[in-house]
Amino acid sequence: MHLKSLTLKGFKSFPDRTRLEFDPGVSVVVGPNGSGKSNVTDAILWVLGEQRPLAIRGQSMQDVIFGGGKGVKARDAAEVELVLDNADGTVDLPVAEISVIRRLDRSGDGGYRLNGAKCRLTDVQEVLSDTGLGKEAHSVVSQGRVEAIVTSKPKDRRLLIEEAAGLGKHRKRRRRAQLKLERTRENLDQALLVEQEAR
Ligand code: ATP
Repeated sequence: MHLKSLTLKGFKSFPDRTRLEFDPGVSVVVGPNGSGKSNVTDAILWVLGEQRPLAIRGQSMQDVIFGGGKGVKARDAAEVELVLDNADGTVDLPVAEISVIRRLDRSGDGGYRLNGAKCRLTDVQEVLSDTGLGKEAHSVVSQGRVEAIVTSKPKDRRLLIEEAAGLGKHRKRRRRAQLKLERTRENLDQALLVEQEAR
Protein backbone atom coordinates (compact mmCIF):
# COMPACT_ATOMS: atom_id res chain seq x y z
CA MET A 1 0.00 0.00 0.00
CA HIS A 2 1.26 3.48 -0.70
CA LEU A 3 0.06 7.06 -0.75
CA LYS A 4 -1.00 7.61 -4.36
CA SER A 5 -2.17 11.20 -4.38
CA LEU A 6 -3.12 14.17 -2.29
CA THR A 7 -5.48 16.83 -3.62
CA LEU A 8 -5.86 20.16 -1.85
CA LYS A 9 -8.50 22.77 -2.57
CA GLY A 10 -8.83 25.92 -0.46
CA PHE A 11 -6.49 24.37 2.09
CA LYS A 12 -3.99 26.78 3.68
CA SER A 13 -1.73 28.19 0.93
CA PHE A 14 -3.47 26.17 -1.85
CA PRO A 15 -6.53 28.21 -3.00
CA ASP A 16 -7.02 26.27 -6.23
CA ARG A 17 -7.29 22.53 -6.76
CA THR A 18 -3.73 21.17 -6.50
CA ARG A 19 -2.99 17.49 -6.98
CA LEU A 20 0.24 15.85 -5.85
CA GLU A 21 0.93 12.36 -7.16
CA PHE A 22 3.31 9.96 -5.44
CA ASP A 23 5.02 6.84 -6.78
CA PRO A 24 5.87 3.93 -4.49
CA GLY A 25 9.06 4.54 -2.53
CA VAL A 26 10.46 7.77 -1.19
CA SER A 27 9.13 11.13 -2.38
CA VAL A 28 10.73 14.44 -1.55
CA VAL A 29 8.88 17.76 -1.50
CA VAL A 30 11.22 20.68 -2.13
CA GLY A 31 10.65 24.41 -2.29
CA PRO A 32 11.71 27.78 -0.90
CA ASN A 33 10.92 28.78 2.68
CA GLY A 34 7.23 29.51 3.15
CA SER A 35 6.22 27.88 -0.14
CA GLY A 36 3.86 25.41 1.55
CA LYS A 37 5.88 22.20 2.13
CA SER A 38 4.70 21.82 5.73
CA ASN A 39 1.15 22.65 4.63
CA VAL A 40 1.28 19.43 2.59
CA THR A 41 2.04 17.35 5.71
CA ASP A 42 -0.59 19.36 7.61
CA ALA A 43 -3.07 18.33 4.89
CA ILE A 44 -2.23 14.64 5.43
CA LEU A 45 -2.78 14.96 9.19
CA TRP A 46 -5.98 16.94 8.68
CA VAL A 47 -7.63 14.60 6.18
CA LEU A 48 -6.83 11.69 8.52
CA GLY A 49 -8.88 13.41 11.21
CA GLU A 50 -6.59 15.69 13.21
CA GLN A 51 -8.83 17.53 15.68
CA ARG A 52 -6.28 19.80 17.35
CA PRO A 53 -5.72 23.08 15.44
CA LEU A 54 -2.33 23.47 17.14
CA ALA A 55 -1.13 20.15 15.71
CA ILE A 56 -1.57 21.65 12.25
CA ARG A 57 -0.16 25.01 13.28
CA GLY A 58 -3.46 26.93 13.61
CA GLN A 59 -5.42 28.66 16.35
CA SER A 60 -8.84 27.45 15.23
CA MET A 61 -9.84 24.70 12.79
CA GLN A 62 -11.09 27.31 10.28
CA ASP A 63 -7.47 28.48 9.94
CA VAL A 64 -6.98 25.66 7.44
CA ILE A 65 -9.21 27.52 4.96
CA PHE A 66 -7.27 29.70 2.50
CA GLY A 67 -7.49 33.21 3.93
CA GLY A 68 -6.56 35.17 0.82
CA GLY A 69 -3.33 36.74 -0.33
CA LYS A 70 -1.35 37.96 -3.35
CA GLY A 71 -4.53 39.25 -5.00
CA VAL A 72 -6.35 35.94 -4.55
CA LYS A 73 -9.68 36.01 -2.65
CA ALA A 74 -10.18 33.98 0.52
CA ARG A 75 -12.00 30.68 -0.01
CA ASP A 76 -15.19 29.56 1.76
CA ALA A 77 -14.11 26.00 2.38
CA ALA A 78 -11.10 23.70 2.57
CA GLU A 79 -11.11 20.22 1.11
CA VAL A 80 -8.41 17.57 1.04
CA GLU A 81 -8.53 14.17 -0.63
CA LEU A 82 -6.02 11.45 0.11
CA VAL A 83 -5.90 8.38 -2.13
CA LEU A 84 -4.17 5.18 -1.06
CA ASP A 85 -3.28 2.37 -3.45
CA ASN A 86 -4.91 -0.79 -2.11
CA ALA A 87 -3.88 -3.14 -4.93
CA ASP A 88 -2.14 -5.39 -2.39
CA GLY A 89 -5.32 -5.66 -0.31
CA THR A 90 -3.82 -4.17 2.86
CA VAL A 91 -7.28 -2.86 3.67
CA ASP A 92 -9.78 -5.69 3.60
CA LEU A 93 -12.15 -4.05 1.14
CA PRO A 94 -12.74 -5.09 -2.48
CA VAL A 95 -11.38 -1.83 -3.90
CA ALA A 96 -8.06 -1.02 -5.59
CA GLU A 97 -7.98 2.48 -4.14
CA ILE A 98 -9.10 4.01 -0.86
CA SER A 99 -10.15 7.64 -1.07
CA VAL A 100 -10.65 9.75 2.06
CA ILE A 101 -12.04 13.28 1.77
CA ARG A 102 -12.39 15.84 4.54
CA ARG A 103 -14.13 19.16 4.04
CA LEU A 104 -14.77 22.15 6.29
CA ASP A 105 -16.48 25.47 5.55
CA ARG A 106 -16.36 28.75 7.45
CA SER A 107 -19.61 28.03 9.30
CA GLY A 108 -18.00 24.89 10.72
CA ASP A 109 -19.98 22.49 8.49
CA GLY A 110 -18.11 19.67 6.88
CA GLY A 111 -17.35 16.03 7.22
CA TYR A 112 -15.70 12.96 5.79
CA ARG A 113 -16.20 10.73 2.78
CA LEU A 114 -14.80 7.27 2.28
CA ASN A 115 -14.68 6.25 -1.39
CA GLY A 116 -17.33 8.87 -2.08
CA ALA A 117 -19.78 7.90 0.66
CA LYS A 118 -20.44 10.20 3.61
CA CYS A 119 -19.14 8.71 6.83
CA ARG A 120 -17.97 9.47 10.36
CA LEU A 121 -14.37 9.99 11.38
CA THR A 122 -14.50 6.72 13.35
CA ASP A 123 -15.33 4.87 10.09
CA VAL A 124 -12.25 6.40 8.42
CA GLN A 125 -10.10 5.47 11.41
CA GLU A 126 -11.49 1.94 11.55
CA VAL A 127 -10.79 1.31 7.85
CA LEU A 128 -7.31 2.82 8.07
CA SER A 129 -6.30 1.15 11.32
CA ASP A 130 -4.94 -1.86 9.39
CA THR A 131 -2.57 0.46 7.56
CA GLY A 132 -1.02 2.16 10.59
CA LEU A 133 -2.76 5.37 9.49
CA GLY A 134 -5.69 5.23 11.91
CA LYS A 135 -6.23 7.12 15.14
CA GLU A 136 -3.00 7.84 17.03
CA ALA A 137 -1.14 7.02 13.86
CA HIS A 138 2.33 8.33 13.30
CA SER A 139 1.99 9.08 9.63
CA VAL A 140 3.70 12.42 10.10
CA VAL A 141 6.79 12.56 12.28
CA SER A 142 7.87 16.14 12.86
CA GLN A 143 11.48 17.17 13.41
CA GLY A 144 11.16 17.38 17.22
CA ARG A 145 9.34 14.03 17.39
CA VAL A 146 12.30 12.11 15.96
CA GLU A 147 14.38 12.89 19.06
CA ALA A 148 11.41 12.23 21.35
CA ILE A 149 10.94 8.77 19.78
CA VAL A 150 14.62 7.86 20.04
CA THR A 151 14.78 8.87 23.71
CA SER A 152 11.34 7.52 24.72
CA LYS A 153 10.87 4.66 27.21
CA PRO A 154 10.87 1.17 25.63
CA LYS A 155 7.18 0.72 26.63
CA ASP A 156 6.15 3.95 24.83
CA ARG A 157 8.27 3.08 21.81
CA ARG A 158 6.63 -0.34 21.64
CA LEU A 159 3.16 1.28 21.62
CA LEU A 160 4.28 3.51 18.77
CA ILE A 161 5.61 0.59 16.73
CA GLU A 162 2.41 -1.37 17.40
CA GLU A 163 0.29 1.55 16.13
CA ALA A 164 2.45 1.90 13.04
CA ALA A 165 2.14 -1.85 12.37
CA GLY A 166 -1.66 -1.62 12.65
CA LEU A 167 -1.81 -3.61 15.92
CA GLY A 168 -3.48 -0.78 17.83
CA LYS A 169 -6.88 -1.82 16.49
CA HIS A 170 -6.52 -5.33 17.92
CA ARG A 171 -5.29 -3.98 21.26
CA LYS A 172 -8.40 -1.78 21.47
CA ARG A 173 -10.69 -4.65 20.44
CA ARG A 174 -9.12 -6.88 23.12
CA ARG A 175 -9.70 -4.17 25.74
CA ARG A 176 -13.34 -3.80 24.62
CA ALA A 177 -13.82 -7.58 24.77
CA GLN A 178 -12.27 -7.72 28.27
CA LEU A 179 -14.63 -4.99 29.50
CA LYS A 180 -17.60 -6.85 28.02
CA LEU A 181 -16.45 -10.06 29.70
CA GLU A 182 -16.16 -8.27 33.06
CA ARG A 183 -19.68 -6.86 32.68
CA THR A 184 -21.04 -10.29 31.74
CA ARG A 185 -19.35 -11.83 34.82
CA GLU A 186 -20.94 -9.16 37.03
CA ASN A 187 -24.36 -9.82 35.47
CA LEU A 188 -23.88 -13.56 36.01
CA ASP A 189 -22.97 -13.03 39.68
CA GLN A 190 -26.10 -10.89 40.09
CA ALA A 191 -28.27 -13.52 38.41
CA LEU A 192 -26.83 -16.28 40.64
CA LEU A 193 -27.54 -14.18 43.74
CA VAL A 194 -31.15 -13.62 42.65
CA GLU A 195 -31.50 -17.36 41.95
CA GLN A 196 -30.12 -18.24 45.42
CA GLU A 197 -32.50 -15.81 47.12
CA ALA A 198 -35.46 -17.23 45.20
CA ARG A 199 -34.75 -20.77 46.44
P1 ATP B 1 9.71 26.39 5.65
O1 ATP B 1 10.64 25.84 4.63
O2 ATP B 1 10.12 27.79 6.09
O3 ATP B 1 9.40 25.49 6.82
P2 ATP B 1 7.27 25.69 4.22
O4 ATP B 1 7.57 25.49 2.77
O5 ATP B 1 7.12 24.45 5.04
O6 ATP B 1 8.32 26.68 4.88
P3 ATP B 1 4.63 26.31 5.10
O7 ATP B 1 4.87 26.54 6.56
O8 ATP B 1 4.00 25.04 4.67
O9 ATP B 1 5.96 26.58 4.29
O10 ATP B 1 3.70 27.47 4.51
C1 ATP B 1 3.66 28.74 5.08
C2 ATP B 1 2.82 29.61 4.19
O11 ATP B 1 1.48 29.17 4.17
C3 ATP B 1 2.83 31.03 4.71
O12 ATP B 1 3.11 31.90 3.62
C4 ATP B 1 1.42 31.25 5.20
O13 ATP B 1 0.97 32.55 5.01
C5 ATP B 1 0.65 30.31 4.29
N1 ATP B 1 -0.62 29.91 4.91
C6 ATP B 1 -0.85 29.15 5.99
N2 ATP B 1 -2.16 29.07 6.27
C7 ATP B 1 -2.78 29.81 5.34
C8 ATP B 1 -4.16 30.17 5.10
N3 ATP B 1 -5.15 29.69 5.85
N4 ATP B 1 -4.42 30.96 4.05
C9 ATP B 1 -3.43 31.44 3.26
N5 ATP B 1 -2.13 31.16 3.43
C10 ATP B 1 -1.80 30.38 4.47
